[in-house]
Amino acid sequence: MELLGITMGDSSGVGPEILLNAFQRGEITCPFVAYGDTAALERYNTHGVELRSITQPDEYRPGVLNVVNAGLMSGADVTPGAINAKSGHAAREYVIAATKAALAGQITAMVTLPMNKEATQLTDPGFTGHTELIGALCGVEDVTIMLASDQLIVTHVSTHCSLSDAIARAKFDRICTIIRMTSEAVLRLKPEAKIAVAGLNPHAGENGLFGEEEIREIRPAVEWAQAQGMPVEGPFPPDTVFFLAVRKKRYDAIVCMYHDQGHIPLKLLDFEAGVNVALGLPIIRTSVDHGTAFDIAGQGIASTVSLLRAIEFAQRLIRT
Ligand SMILES: [Zn+2]
Repeated sequence: MELLGITMGDSSGVGPEILLNAFQRGEITCPFVAYGDTAALERYNTHGVELRSITQPDEYRPGVLNVVNAGLMSGADVTPGAINAKSGHAAREYVIAATKAALAGQITAMVTLPMNKEATQLTDPGFTGHTELIGALCGVEDVTIMLASDQLIVTHVSTHCSLSDAIARAKFDRICTIIRMTSEAVLRLKPEAKIAVAGLNPHAGENGLFGEEEIREIRPAVEWAQAQGMPVEGPFPPDTVFFLAVRKKRYDAIVCMYHDQGHIPLKLLDFEAGVNVALGLPIIRTSVDHGTAFDIAGQGIASTVSLLRAIEFAQRLIRT
């Protein structure tokens, strides 16, 4: 049976209520188990959703919300909207449990609700992010995130670093790796897909007039990928490549050189419905494209759209 695992995220944030609301409204139509703490979920359970604690995914029963219960949080430990070392640590443990279950084939894919980096770092100072944690558990180093909406798919050569670091990281080897991972993922979704690579500088450097990264790093990486048979073109001027992809429908995905280059157009097009898809893992993992939203946690108003899209995307990947 196809069974998804959904981690409920940091219980100080909006993860638990999104999960409960989506389940209560019948929006999640596939079988799944939640990874989290039943007592913490109960704290947000204003609609009387029937929760059932289990220890293994194969104890799944339809009609109730099955929780692979970590037993780390009591209801009293939950502090909506506040940084909480205990919930930060627990959120990490849910992800570890779900990753192990996915690696063991007990769940078909994992979908993650948000953790809070700051809260998790209180007990795990080396914690850098969800994707890195899952990558380490899977024993892989080259992992990256693909950001997908209905209109646009983007990947990034670097993400969470300063702009000056991002420029320093736009190097041949890394660009080749990201193009390869993008190409593998996008061709799986659409065999005839075409991929564009954005430049780094204005006008993609204008033949070296506005910077040489295109000449030295990006173009050689594109040529390497083409020689490997990947359907890749570029580097394109960053200010026009999104128009070519979204309006002219010439490209299915864009390899971007840094975080904002890809995130700004994607969020402008579809703020709520972005999905994060991890590339380079031996398991299927998608994630909501929003954070813990401490400012609205506990109010029951957080949108379920990104979770539903992340579930849909995981199912799409299962079927390809
Ligand atoms: Zn970001």
